[in-house]
Amino acid sequence: MTQIMDGRCALVTGARNKWSIAWHIALSLHREGARLAFSVFGEREENSVRKLMADAGIDAPVFQCDASSAEQVEQLMQQAGSFFDGRLHCLVHAIAFAKKEELSGEYVATSQDGFALAHDASVYSLITLARAARPLLAREGGSIVTLTYLGAERVVPGYNVMGVAKAALEASVRYLAADLGGEQIRVNAVSAGPIKTLAAGAIAGFDSMIQHVSERAPLKRAVDADEVADAALFLLSPLARGITGETLYVDGGYNITAM
Ligand code: NAD
Repeated sequence: MTQIMDGRCALVTGARNKWSIAWHIALSLHREGARLAFSVFGEREENSVRKLMADAGIDAPVFQCDASSAEQVEQLMQQAGSFFDGRLHCLVHAIAFAKKEELSGEYVATSQDGFALAHDASVYSLITLARAARPLLAREGGSIVTLTYLGAERVVPGYNVMGVAKAALEASVRYLAADLGGEQIRVNAVSAGPIKTLAAGAIAGFDSMIQHVSERAPLKRAVDADEVADAALFLLSPLARGITGETLYVDGGYNITAM
């Protein structure tokens, strides 16, 4: 039986452990027949992802890349390009970072360097990756998916500078979609409900966010990483070939409520 991602080449960034949303997206892509390559932040992440791959029976290269370095991203795309014979169909951007001290208390206290760091790692990395991947994605048409959160639009206590970075990320999705659409490169975001991961653990009061969503969301529960992954898979797949510049909510419907 043919699978929806048969013959498709996917580069997944942002996996670091079994909780990472990026790892679950990789599992969904693998399940549907995609060829995978991983880009990880450092050696510890590489070892962790290699172990996960071995346990899951996945054979794929793992490249190290600091996505806030344009040089390293260029090198990453050269490595991915030679592995995938000069083409790429899917690029997953699942990268975010802010200093822990910026993720509690008042937003008004955000430091200038904390603001810059959060935007550099969490937003500009998408632009750098999209620019460097463009020639590979343009070969046969491609799809970029990034991960965002409702804190981009609403004030979520503790989310602070990351909410402002996610607003810039969602706007970047629209601008990139407009730039790259003529080459049949689509750019979309999945807005995930709160899921316990290492990055999420840095946000003050995160457990109560999950509790709040479980009580108020129309589905009366929080979502899990596999549900987010399957929505990302849809956007990465030819099933979403007419969709670009969008933010798709996978949050049990929480975003439609008055809260
Ligand atoms: P995670 O901690 O597993 O993943 C974050 C990843 O970002 C890590 O792999 C880390 O190595 C990587 N990273 C940070 N700085 C980097 C850099 N300079 N270069 C390369 N990689 C870098 O956590 P996650 O929750 O799976 O996060 C993935 C994405 O999902 C993030 O964009 C996050 O904001 C978003 N998201 C998460 C939730 C949630 O509740 N967990 C909800 C909505 C959106």
